[in-house]
Amino acid sequence: MNIHEYQGKSILKSFGVAIQEGIVAESPELAVKAAKELQQLTGTQWWVVKAQIHAGGRGKGGGVKLAKSLDEVKEKATDIIGMQLVTPQTGAQGKKVHKVLIAQDVYYPGASPTKEFYMSVLLNRQTGKNIIMYSTEGGMDIEAVAEKTPERIFKEEIDPKVGLQSFQSRKIAFNLGLSGEAFKQMIRFVTSLYKAYDSIDASLFEINPVLKTSDDKILAVDAKVNFDDNGLFRHPDYAALRDKSEEDPTEVEASEHDLNYVKLDGNVGCMVNGAGLAMATMDIIKLAGGEPANFLDVGGTANAARVEQAFRIILKDKNVKAILVNIFGGIVRCDRVAQGIVDAYNNIGAIPVPIIVRLQGTNAVEAKKIIDASGLKVSSAILLKEAADLVNEVLSK
Ligand code: GDP
Ligand code: MN
Repeated sequence: MNIHEYQGKSILKSFGVAIQEGIVAESPELAVKAAKELQQLTGTQWWVVKAQIHAGGRGKGGGVKLAKSLDEVKEKATDIIGMQLVTPQTGAQGKKVHKVLIAQDVYYPGASPTKEFYMSVLLNRQTGKNIIMYSTEGGMDIEAVAEKTPERIFKEEIDPKVGLQSFQSRKIAFNLGLSGEAFKQMIRFVTSLYKAYDSIDASLFEINPVLKTSDDKILAVDAKVNFDDNGLFRHPDYAALRDKSEEDPTEVEASEHDLNYVKLDGNVGCMVNGAGLAMATMDIIKLAGGEPANFLDVGGTANAARVEQAFRIILKDKNVKAILVNIFGGIVRCDRVAQGIVDAYNNIGAIPVPIIVRLQGTNAVEAKKIIDASGLKVSSAILLKEAADLVNEVLSK
């Protein structure tokens, strides 16, 4: 689960991570009110108005603006709230902005230069350890840094059982070229950041930029915080931060029906039980020359109601030209699933695209008979290869 910058920063702050302070606002009037409050709180003379959407690259897309007066706060907030913000991460259609974060300006213009760093915390699945990735080249496109000057990206692996050791945080501050007060502040920053990551069951933190101010404070100017969904049940307060308006509406609907659905760009809809089989099915679709339109795991109980719901969700995607149903009857019997498919088909009415059904496992032969005898425009196959060939056939028609 992804959350907004303002929510991420507030979590970081609760673990003692220094942040660029700010107050969230949903209208230009509230933005001005927030700016005044922030001035009292921090003494800031200027502000930044930051679009709150679940995507990065907002600065490049015009979603982060400096304001040098309360009038400018109002003006910039009016521009940004309600805009369709397009960034390198949103896709061409962009994302609608509902809220802005009014933040203190921490770049102290005219003072001695500040420095922007990059820092992220994530899991290395190969080693089962956490990694702090960091660089002196912050604020900009980290992908470009990785490509052109990979030697400027450092990695520190942390054993989750032991935690971040003090020699490691010193090494990080040292590699970032810091000394004196800034060195001490960076150690504090990294230590509290790692503690936050570990405590909340995060799957990713990305702080870009981490700022060294002209008076040697180290703070988070941006915060991308992703949660490990499998750990969310332990954190109901954080789970409540979910903003469904930022998610794909079909994915939200699927999750409400307990279906594991991810929309993709292709034209072959997939309905599968089990995540591994779903991945294999997507592979076989590609081999047959198609492109999967989605990942969909209906789970262990592929009964008629779930199959029907899954069909409805797949069909919301107008790109879908064929549907491949690939079910392995281990716990569920294939003939039950087949009957479920026939019932679902009849309930929904005319399904406008061909359906290829592959049922393998317990009672697979009976299941094929049910499908073939149903009189519906459903092609059945038992072997995965046969199913793939059928997909190929209907796509080339
Ligand atoms: P992103 O573009 O979505 O990654 O959003 P960020 O929060 O990283 O902000 C984008 C850019 O806005 C930063 O890299 C800074 O250059 C700039 N920015 C952020 N905060 C301030 C600030 O307090 N003052 C000034 N002058 N610029 C800022
Ligand atoms: Mn950023």
